[in-house]
Amino acid sequence: MTNLVEKLKTNRTLSHQEFYELLSSDAFDSSLIKSADEIRRKIYGDDVYIRGLIEFTNYCKNNCYYCGIRCANANTKRYRLSKDEILDCCREGYELGFRTFVMQGGEDPYFTDERICDIVSSIRKEFPDCAITLSIGEKSYDSYLDYFKAGANRYLLRHETANDTLYNKLHPETMHLETRKQCLYDLKKIGYQVGSGFMVGAPFQTLDNIIEDLFFLSELQPDMIGIGPYITHKETPFAIYQSGSVELTVRLVAVLRHMFPYALIPSTTALGTLHPEGREMGLRAGANVVMPNLSPQKCRKLYDLYDNKISTGEEAAQSRALLEKRVEAAGYRVVTAIGNVKR
Ligand code: SAH
Repeated sequence: MTNLVEKLKTNRTLSHQEFYELLSSDAFDSSLIKSADEIRRKIYGDDVYIRGLIEFTNYCKNNCYYCGIRCANANTKRYRLSKDEILDCCREGYELGFRTFVMQGGEDPYFTDERICDIVSSIRKEFPDCAITLSIGEKSYDSYLDYFKAGANRYLLRHETANDTLYNKLHPETMHLETRKQCLYDLKKIGYQVGSGFMVGAPFQTLDNIIEDLFFLSELQPDMIGIGPYITHKETPFAIYQSGSVELTVRLVAVLRHMFPYALIPSTTALGTLHPEGREMGLRAGANVVMPNLSPQKCRKLYDLYDNKISTGEEAAQSRALLEKRVEAAGYRVVTAIGNVKR
């Protein structure tokens, strides 16, 4: 094993300069990925946890420059699922072996705290043996607390970038990195299993910025870490910028597995969108979670965060058998389990 990889494995961190060296070429990839897989197998074996993703609204009051469902995109047909439709997704998911439901959406003012709590408590009541994950953006401490009391136990909120200047280039001036970070600390304090992460190859992002993300995650110590390549969306102000790199994303998954041996790390849909084998590559580099889509067929295409987002192949929850085959071919095994973080 090369020195830097060994050092990362032992210390779970490196200096900025060393991270730069590790990330800036493919020189370390084979030893880095092999070592990440060893760490993952030691803790999680060959288990791959599945999460049923319910994209329940594409209305959003925010205007993030990279995102296809930003409110200024007038060319997206908007939809929201009813409580019954969401519960139906859970029922179908449960039958298919899902024990975690992830409710993700834009920041949609229609879904008041009262409505979210009502939906969450109904899911909690009907599926007491399942985890309920929310991914609905920035809320107040009290709102997060209410959702938690209603039965939600995990929350995904990517910090997107830990660099203030870059954050302001990716978001309108109504949004602030400090707020986002505060949300993450609030969620932790309340007792959620917290997921964060960032996009790889976002416009204006440098390797130094990515290293800042790694250090921020070290400080936060999240239970889940989601990263995926930035992918262009033609109806955004960033339409002219190229998508990020699959290779660098996979390298970063391997680095994250070294830094956070116990974390739940998804091999993301964005990775699978940019490369036909993207998700397998992520799994082999230390990822241990996949999040197939449980949303009703009719709205899959409408939750278009980025161009060509895959939605009807093995990333569809209904194709669990197909997904299992692909995961097995990559050397792992899909399990029916709640899949809480090991500590
Ligand atoms: N409103 C929620 C969910 C956002 S969508 C929230 O604020 O957390 C989930 C994630 O998709 C985002 O956190 C972002 O990192 C990612 N995403 C959005 N647009 C993207 C794009 N163009 N390419 C790749 N990932 C994107």
